[in-house]
Order: sequence, then C-alpha cells, then structure tokens
Amino acid sequence: MDKKKIEASHLKFMRMAVKCADNNIRTGNGGPFGAAIVKNGEVIACTPNSVTATNDPTAHAEVNAIREACKKLKTPDLEGCVMYTSCEPCPMCTSAIYWARINVVYYGNTKTDAEWAGFGDTFVSEELGKPLDQRSVLFKRLGASDAIRSFEEWISLSDAEKSEVKNGTL
Ligand code: ZN
Repeated sequence: MDKKKIEASHLKFMRMAVKCADNNIRTGNGGPFGAAIVKNGEVIACTPNSVTATNDPTAHAEVNAIREACKKLKTPDLEGCVMYTSCEPCPMCTSAIYWARINVVYYGNTKTDAEWAGFGDTFVSEELGKPLDQRSVLFKRLGASDAIRSFEEWISLSDAEKSEVKNGTL
C-alpha cells in the first residue's frame, strides 16, 4: 500500500472512534470519548466511555475497548493490535495499554484539548510524579508480612505451573 492509502485507512479507524464519541453524547450514555482496537485491518472493538451509564469510574473508552477486544480474542495479550482513540489516553488508560501490550496508539484530541473541554487529567499525572507520602490520596503500608506470602507462594511454583496460571490452563 502506498503512503496515502495507509494514511486513509488509519483515518477511517480514527473516524470510527470519533463517531463512537459523538454518538455517546447524543445517547447520553457518557462522555465524548471513543476508542477502537484493530488487528490486521479488522476492527475487534469500538467502544465509547460508559462511566456514568455503568457507574464505573474505570469505564473509559480505551479500557472498555481493551476489555472487549480481550474478551473477543480470548487473551489478555493484545500484541499486534493498534488502538485508535478520540483523545490522548489518560494515565489509567495509558497503563492499561501497556498491560495489554498494544503496540501503536493513534489519538485525535490532545490532553490540552481535553482540559479545554473540562476533562483534564493533569492532576493525576502530577500525583503520579510525587512520592507516595506527598500525594493527596493517603497510601499507607499495612500487613506486609501477610501480603508477602502470596508472592512467596507464587515464586515457589515451577515455571510450568506459573505459565499454566498465566495461560489460564491450570
Ligand atoms: Zn482513560
């Protein structure tokens, strides 16, 4: 494919994500955000933000798309997938993208645009840059000697057992 054709196909998927965001406003289901996940040119998921509709503060468009794509592909690993999102992902969604091993993210609006529209997430990024004891949410260590047992049990497993757990085949 030549460069123009490649660009047009990316834009086609971005427009799907944006349409999803637009529809969301019209249906009153949630904020103006949409995200699509594509693998080998095939749309696996295209979802809007559904925070208010589902009373789920983590139901951002990108997280919803990751959940749907993983469910459809029956894997937590989206390596080889591309995300098209109507807005530059927030810190939570950015983390989810890394955990899902998505390789490429195309975004429409920037964080500055989101800030302008009243959906800023700069406060989260700023918090993440601070040491735990300087954040506005109280983080306190507790029950460390109990909690470490989960890791002790995990590291006592053989490599074969660990991969069975990771592959969901145990
Ligand atoms: Zn997000």
